[in-house]
Amino acid sequence: MAKCPNCGANIQEPSKSWRYGVFNVDAYTCGRCGLRFREYTRERKCIFILKLEKGKGFVKA
Ligand SMILES: [Zn+2]
Repeated sequence: MAKCPNCGANIQEPSKSWRYGVFNVDAYTCGRCGLRFREYTRERKCIFILKLEKGKGFVKA
């Protein structure tokens, strides 16, 4: 489960998950505001979040 960095809505399931080096990446799309973001976790701890911004691509949330 993740919290949308834009509107704070809780999202139960990632739309996609994969491994990136030492991280597990979970991709979410917010059902409330439509923000797409990726949560990078390591050993179940959230290390950082990237959000998709129009024209910029993924930036740190
Ligand atoms: Zn949202």
